[in-house]
Amino acid sequence: MLEQDLTTMSDAVVVDVLRELEELRRRLEALSNRMIVEVVERSIPAARGHRSPKRFLVEVLRISSADASARITAAQDLGVWHAPSGAELPVTLPQTAVAQRDGAIGADHVRAVRAAMRKIPAAVSKDDRRAAEAILVELSRTSTPEAVQSAGERLLAHLDPDGTVSDEPDRVRRRGVTVGRQDNALMSRLAGELDPIARAMLDTILAKWARPGMNNPDDPESPCGAGEGVDRDVLAAAAGRDQRSTAQRNHDALTAVFRTVLESGVLGKQRGLPAIVIVTMAIDQLEQAAGGVATTATGGVLPISDALRLAERAHPFLVVFGNDGRPLHLGRAHRLASSDQRLALIAADRGCTRPGCDAPASLCAVHHVRGWNKGGSTDIENLALACDSCHALVNEGPLGWATRTTASGRTGWIGPVATDPDQRVGINTRHHPDELLRDARRRIDYERESGVA
Ligand SMILES: [Zn+2]
Repeated sequence: MLEQDLTTMSDAVVVDVLRELEELRRRLEALSNRMIVEVVERSIPAARGHRSPKRFLVEVLRISSADASARITAAQDLGVWHAPSGAELPVTLPQTAVAQRDGAIGADHVRAVRAAMRKIPAAVSKDDRRAAEAILVELSRTSTPEAVQSAGERLLAHLDPDGTVSDEPDRVRRRGVTVGRQDNALMSRLAGELDPIARAMLDTILAKWARPGMNNPDDPESPCGAGEGVDRDVLAAAAGRDQRSTAQRNHDALTAVFRTVLESGVLGKQRGLPAIVIVTMAIDQLEQAAGGVATTATGGVLPISDALRLAERAHPFLVVFGNDGRPLHLGRAHRLASSDQRLALIAADRGCTRPGCDAPASLCAVHHVRGWNKGGSTDIENLALACDSCHALVNEGPLGWATRTTASGRTGWIGPVATDPDQRVGINTRHHPDELLRDARRRIDYERESGVA
């Protein structure tokens, strides 16, 4: 093919060749792992006078030291090694190794899986570790390495063995925000760490005011929020009685500003719901309130205990859902009847339903899975969240996407024939790491009980 005239090749063949090359490249990496295991187990580097396996690769293959290190690490994690008796040792990342041999995932996928797996605390059970790898590998087979990386970070919050995530004293100590000295350009550095409650409030505000076109100083027509949320006198009086450090005061004051802004109502509505913190949790999460995390409509995560404390103040909005996804409890005196459907969607979908999309619920529109013109109803079963750009992809043109409700009740997306000739129905698991984990755990339990594993 290096010599062949490619101009006669059809576009479809060019694309096919590119895909096959990628698969081949990935399988070659798996083969390279096998060969490196062989080289090391036969002690070839030492026998030939190389200081280490890495130096052997550098000197024999003329590759960089960094490349050699990466290949050795890959062989360590994915290769099948042997005990002196000749027995096969367990592979460190067995499911990743299988996917690489299939040609389904590349070196960057492997790196993303490994990075996430290494961050899992030592106390996490073997089964949970296996479940986490299964989820990351499954995602690797269908998405980009970047998607695997961000999914890995989300997954870690759910793999908390003894409640360190929901453990509070550490957060009380670490909280703080510092406004730095002005630099030559009169800019100030804002540094510090926000606790999950402050973060949940901040996310909600940013979702509204940091949108393109909002609060733009270069555009006199740009809408901006009223800046009168802070009462100077109240803050000054509070400072007089204050025994906290500057950083702690900054933190608490900022939290108060967020609350004042939220209470003042200046944010108006965000996609039909008041722009307030919306925390959703399932009824069974509430019952086992000790551990666990709830999600916010802006894509954040906060411990159940913090969510409940947040709700006590009555200003943010706590929504508890039954197993059917219907709101059981709305944490406010008056119900927002017309908003129930959107709240139910926020709890069920948590974000955009198109496979691979990261957009949180606050950036999503309500999409009719079966269109109006085809007799689709506005019942909750026919509604799903979709961000504006994904929503715009749904049309009946040759490049349009289609949606349908799957057997599991989730919204399935089907790409245009041009990019997906097999017309596979994909669902978005990015907003549901907890469900993936639960399913993977069940699978592992089942395998053990039935003796498959
Ligand atoms: Zn989207």
